[in-house]
Amino acid sequence: MSIALPTLTIEHGERFGKLTVLRKYTSKKRGPRYACGCSCGCTKVTATANELLKGRVKACLRCADSSSP
Ligand SMILES: [Zn+2]
Repeated sequence: MSIALPTLTIEHGERFGKLTVLRKYTSKKRGPRYACGCSCGCTKVTATANELLKGRVKACLRCADSSSP
């Protein structure tokens, strides 16, 4: 059994949970990151490709907070 891993490429407009990828940028300290907009209207979400693809980041902080107990 083999599972093909998705490529580490994220397109603009791709959706992860409540997030929609707006643009890619590179942080001098943290490397390539993606700016995302949350469905609640928050556009201050940033995450790495790994975080998005592994589902570690799928909403803004406020939404992530309210959805966890
Ligand atoms: Zn949100």
